[in-house]
Amino acid sequence: MDVSILKDKFFELYGAAPLIVRSPGRINLIGEHTDYNEGFVLPAAIDKEMVLAVAKNNTDKCRLHSVDYNESAEFSLKDLKPSDTAWANYILGVADQLKKAGHTIEGFDCVFGGDIPMGAGLSSSAALECGAGYALSELFKLDIEKTQLVKFAQKAEHTFAGVQCGIMDQFASVMGKKDHAIRLDCRSLEFSYFPINLRNYQVVLCDTQVKHSLASSEYNTRRKECERGVAAVKEKYPEVNSLRDISLQMLNEVKEQLDPVVYKRCSFVIEENERLLSGCALLEEGDIAGFGKKMYGSHDGLSENYEVSCKELDFLVDYTRDKEYVVGARMMGGGFGGCTINLVAIDQKDTFIAGIREAYKEKFNIDMKTYEVAVKDGTGRVEVANATA
Ligand code: ADP
Ligand code: MG
Repeated sequence: MDVSILKDKFFELYGAAPLIVRSPGRINLIGEHTDYNEGFVLPAAIDKEMVLAVAKNNTDKCRLHSVDYNESAEFSLKDLKPSDTAWANYILGVADQLKKAGHTIEGFDCVFGGDIPMGAGLSSSAALECGAGYALSELFKLDIEKTQLVKFAQKAEHTFAGVQCGIMDQFASVMGKKDHAIRLDCRSLEFSYFPINLRNYQVVLCDTQVKHSLASSEYNTRRKECERGVAAVKEKYPEVNSLRDISLQMLNEVKEQLDPVVYKRCSFVIEENERLLSGCALLEEGDIAGFGKKMYGSHDGLSENYEVSCKELDFLVDYTRDKEYVVGARMMGGGFGGCTINLVAIDQKDTFIAGIREAYKEKFNIDMKTYEVAVKDGTGRVEVANATA
């Protein structure tokens, strides 16, 4: 999003000079379906972002304008509730959380837009929430601590967007750090940064453009299957509360009593956490190819044991397997559609993109989109000449 266009639009609509905030989308390098099992994830903030311009308007209303939808909407701050204007809910939901936490929010205007593809699994929704929360914190000098901002944004998604998401997306948008992945422990929220010095590799996302309707029902089924595994192990080891507390050996001790499907699901989650931890060590050593192998391991587990892939995702990952210029590939996100994430040799990336697009078109008759992304800092102010604060 061109910041000067945003600023000009703001002046045209509201006649004031705004303060400007950006908040990025995210990728997740490895660690899928581990968050709700109290495990680890490894996201990073990317150079696709939401940009918001805000200023006080001395009323008790907020006036919002989406540049990308070219739509405006106005709401009273006295009585915040989910709106029929879907895009507004991410901002209203955050304002509601701030108010509920006792912060004083006065009337404000907001113009926003961005280049994070919507609904592709790069968390445009979290970027919007986090950007809105940070913008309001700056505007009203609320001095909200970063982890608190993450939680307000997550809660906004639960309450105003009706999506019971985990904390990864908002965490990555706010806490992202240039050239680093965030290893987040979803049990304690402890985190550490791991350098991703990709040197000669480029992260390329391939967007299947499909979203199979199975996604939400299967998601709920997976959660239940994991709970059943935990319950079985708990009979023998009363101290365990989640798959995070369970080793493969402990799971194997109750294998006879377990439904084979439940066993497959649980062993995937346990192995995925192990892959992530050893993958972080490889990143620290700068072993990108070693890390890439873990990504393939993740995909195979998601596809065969957790069974959340689909033919489009499998096709895109399989395409890369014999290409020596792709060191790692896997489906990213909840599954049944969305993107794959690929680590591709920079000098071959154009060959890769052209080849995989052509193959996908031939197989599914879909014009696939690809996104080349770099790892950037999390939510922050954009300094612009003449902007007021
Ligand atoms: P994801 O977070 O994976 O991109 P979601 O379905 O959670 O997908 O969120 C997408 C929704 O967020 C959109 O339907 C829209 O309401 C809102 N949104 C995202 N980006 C923008 C944008 N640039 N302008 C307006 N609304 C946006
Ligand atoms: Mg989302």
